[in-house]
Amino acid sequence: MERLTSSARLMIVSDLDHTMVDHHDPENLSLLRFNSLWEHAYRRDSLLVFSTGRSPTLYKELRKEKPLLTPDVTIMSVGTEITYGNSMLPDHGWVDTLNNKWDLRVVKEETGNFSELTLQAETEQRPHKVSFYVDKSKAHQVTKELSQRLEKRGLDVKIIYSGGMDLDILPQGAGKGQALAYLLKKLKSEGNLPVNTLACGDSGNDAELFSVPDVYGVMVSNAQEELLKWHAENAKDNPKVIHAKERCAGGIIQAVGEFKLGPNLSPRDVSDFLECKADENVNPGHEVVKFFLFYERWRRGEVENSEAYLASLKASCLHDGVFVHPSGAEKSLVDTIDELRKYHGDKQGKKFRVWVDQVLATESAHGTWIVKLDKWEQSDDERRGCTTAVKFTAKEGEGLVWERVEQTWSEESKLKKDDSSWII
Ligand SMILES: [Mg+2]
Repeated sequence: MERLTSSARLMIVSDLDHTMVDHHDPENLSLLRFNSLWEHAYRRDSLLVFSTGRSPTLYKELRKEKPLLTPDVTIMSVGTEITYGNSMLPDHGWVDTLNNKWDLRVVKEETGNFSELTLQAETEQRPHKVSFYVDKSKAHQVTKELSQRLEKRGLDVKIIYSGGMDLDILPQGAGKGQALAYLLKKLKSEGNLPVNTLACGDSGNDAELFSVPDVYGVMVSNAQEELLKWHAENAKDNPKVIHAKERCAGGIIQAVGEFKLGPNLSPRDVSDFLECKADENVNPGHEVVKFFLFYERWRRGEVENSEAYLASLKASCLHDGVFVHPSGAEKSLVDTIDELRKYHGDKQGKKFRVWVDQVLATESAHGTWIVKLDKWEQSDDERRGCTTAVKFTAKEGEGLVWERVEQTWSEESKLKKDDSSWII
């Protein structure tokens, strides 16, 4: 979070499964729409927080399967683990808070008395979370008896039933809601309380997110019955919580618009990239988002094979601009654009998608910008990524001009042999 020196304009705190990620959408369209909106309009001055029931192991699996952005903060294992940044540094203060009236050994002992409970996979058992499956019809009774037993043993726990099958036992001070409250308190103490916070969820363990004071909330259209029921009983009159009409990440975008939290037009919803304008004059990050979106459409054959597009791209490159391909080969930027001509539509029917992550621009000298980002390509089942640095120069009357693009394979992409289909 250190990259922001002042209050975030918007902090989005979103659940993953069936909220940020639509498991019924093999094309991941709503997620990709959200991604380009975030990178184009919010990344530089806002915070993205994922709050998931998944353990670190299952969270990392999901990141490999789906085009998820890198969040600033990751809250995992139903609010029992808070980590920061790419390297996922744990919050030790949060660990101390959770140790209050919690004893993992005692929880394991007592739950052993319930034959209705089936232990979840080993990776899901965490220092401050014990997880089971339980049949819907038994959940209520088990929860009641188990809380009495644990209370007698001196523990103060919280039992959350979610998704019609998952039963999680956590310290009383844990949970998605308390983790969010802790995060807000921490940001406030640093003088960086976000201007607005939007919580997004679909199931029972997300209800807590909507109870945190001063937080906007969106239940996506596909929210589960248990969450809608909680809303009807507890938050029906709260105008800050809505039930979206759109599914998953589409519902998040809808809520950003309805609560007027900032721009809500994803560059993916703009059909002509030449008309896609940023919300202010100089936004080099926007140029990059726009270009790679065009690149995806070009190779999918979704934009017309028109010389006007290529001419406009070439006009925005310095005539002696350089492109360094991740293989190390150097060529001219203008030639690279010319080369695109023969790749029009070559990825048609190949589930080809391109997205950018962590787009961050810094002004290196007056009128010169360096934009760093991770660029990803998915083609059928293969995914490849590279870190990219783009140098822009502001030219009188021409806006930003591309001067140099330099790419390096990401760790896992280095191992793949064939470089031929990676154009830029
Ligand atoms: Mg969910």
